[in-house]
Amino acid sequence: MRSQRPFVIEALTAIGLIVAPFVLPYLDFTPTTMSRIVVWGLFGIGFDILYGFTGLLSFGQSAFYGTGGMVAAYLLTIVGFPRVVIAVIVGMIAASIIGYLIGLIALRRTGIYFAMITVAIAEVFYFVEFNPLSEYTGGENGLPGVPTPTFPLGFTTIHIDTDWSLYTFFAFWYLVGIVIALRIVRSPFGVIFSAIRDNPLRAAAVGHNVHDYKLAAFVIAAAYAGLAGGLLGVLQGFMPPEAFTFDTSGQLVIQTAIGGAGTLFGPLVGATVWLYLSDFFQNTLHLGATWKLVLGIVFVLLVCFLHRGLIGGINDLYDLAAGRGAAKVEPEAPAAFSGVTAEAAQKAAPIGFAREPAPPAMPAASRTTNDFSGPILRASGLTKRYGGLLANSDIHFTVNRGELRGIIGPNGAGKTTLFKMLTCEVPPTSGKIMFEGRDITGMNVTDVCQLGLTKSYQVNQLFTRLTVRENLTIAALAERRGKFRLDMLRRVRKIYGLTEQVEHTLELVDLTAHPDKPVSALPYGEKRRLEVGLALACSPSLLLLDEPLAGMSPRERIEMVDLLKSISRGRTIIIIDHDMHSLFELVERVTVLQEGRVLIEGTPGEIKGNKAVQEAYLGGVLAA
Ligand code: ATP
Repeated sequence: MRSQRPFVIEALTAIGLIVAPFVLPYLDFTPTTMSRIVVWGLFGIGFDILYGFTGLLSFGQSAFYGTGGMVAAYLLTIVGFPRVVIAVIVGMIAASIIGYLIGLIALRRTGIYFAMITVAIAEVFYFVEFNPLSEYTGGENGLPGVPTPTFPLGFTTIHIDTDWSLYTFFAFWYLVGIVIALRIVRSPFGVIFSAIRDNPLRAAAVGHNVHDYKLAAFVIAAAYAGLAGGLLGVLQGFMPPEAFTFDTSGQLVIQTAIGGAGTLFGPLVGATVWLYLSDFFQNTLHLGATWKLVLGIVFVLLVCFLHRGLIGGINDLYDLAAGRGAAKVEPEAPAAFSGVTAEAAQKAAPIGFAREPAPPAMPAASRTTNDFSGPILRASGLTKRYGGLLANSDIHFTVNRGELRGIIGPNGAGKTTLFKMLTCEVPPTSGKIMFEGRDITGMNVTDVCQLGLTKSYQVNQLFTRLTVRENLTIAALAERRGKFRLDMLRRVRKIYGLTEQVEHTLELVDLTAHPDKPVSALPYGEKRRLEVGLALACSPSLLLLDEPLAGMSPRERIEMVDLLKSISRGRTIIIIDHDMHSLFELVERVTVLQEGRVLIEGTPGEIKGNKAVQEAYLGGVLAA
């Protein structure tokens, strides 16, 4: 799926769809089964964008499948609308609108609660179809008499009414669907989906509006479901009420798991296996009611032994044959990011890393400033209470532009909580935060990052299934495109200055040696540098580093301190760390926290010599 050549996958798909009718009948596939497969495959493309790419497991896709199908069938049967294609598209639009409204509700929750809401919503739709709306939907009888399409060309009329012409019609829609989906997942808009799947917290922290991207994915999935639902009515000549059932949603999830989530083609492959086996068990082996049991066992075996589905398994075999098996630790990101690659990077003329490099000119959009006058951050009276616990109490804290500030304090002194309040990850119980002269108290982490304030985390928060370069690209995209943009048809590499920004950050954090390695394959020290790199790629005007040296070996610490020295030039940075020796070497001023309060502030020399600090915190370590 990680092809750099445009349209190769699209062309292969078209060839596959054309060749299938000449091959699959020899394996006992009927034209109707093949039509059903492509309709399920089309239904699954949207679901895969939602689940495989964005990580949102929905069991409610039947609601949109049924809605699209019923609206189209209603127009074609009861209203008597003559144009099949237009009716199907109207059904798709209706499903998208419903998807938008349902998404606003369902996306208020995450994880299992989101999945449960989608189940409940699908059940509500099933009930509504059978009862209050049965006059329009036919209730348990469905809507019979859905016509097949005809295309009047003036001199003749094309009737799509034979088995093979119907297959061609559905295959055409599948091709359109896959071309659009490939375009979406390769666009800057689409690559954010993978980041949200891997780490929604960090995706928001680097400046992406996670909720809006999830909602967009939800609407896209509803649109594909609505389109497939409309085509189902045409395929069967009848819109069945079963489209709304939980079984439909469940079958879609199973087929996607069998084929491979996050591949776009997984649902098609899964539908092929599922429908073929169900036909085979029922019609050839005459298993009667036990066919579902056997199919269930086959499903469990497939998912256990091929946890990335059939496409993932084939991909692994291919990698093994190509000798890439050992290097590959985690699955690579599917389809996305084809724009930002080694190839694109080479065009950006990377410069070999040198220790403490002179920083290359930052991209035009960089917020790094040379105007080092006055405070950039001013916090007053900051207090944070967790129930009865006072994590921070009445903190007054000012940082000037260009300053390199250290924060120290014993465990539990409230350092991380202070950072969380400054980056608006948690709201203060009371107090005020001014950043660049603007009151940011009560804003959210995404908006504050967009303003130029971000942090690296004490515990790595990376996009673990993506590569190093892709991680940095995600962060840089937020700075280049803003927190949300529907640029679905744009190419990542077309974004002005993006490649340079990513390459520059790779150099800054000394990760030019393995830019295309999956993050999960990196040693801890490199992961830690990438953690800092993610914050740097946002081009912040104020960078907060929460224990950048945490958990590092002595050698890795020396490298990281060198790196911090090199990135500190021309930036305003606040660093928390317990390694006082390294911190005092780095910073100009130090703030000491104790029991949630500011104990003292001063130069490293003043802090080292301060008796109160030695007694309260250092406990004689420095004196010794
Ligand atoms: P460390 O150096 O160990 O990272 P710290 O100085 O960063 O510590 P914080 O993590 O800010 O300290 O924690 C300050 C206090 O607030 C601690 O007592 C901690 O247990 C408490 N605390 C932090 N987060 C929460 C939370 N979400 N809910 C309840 N208590 C919390």
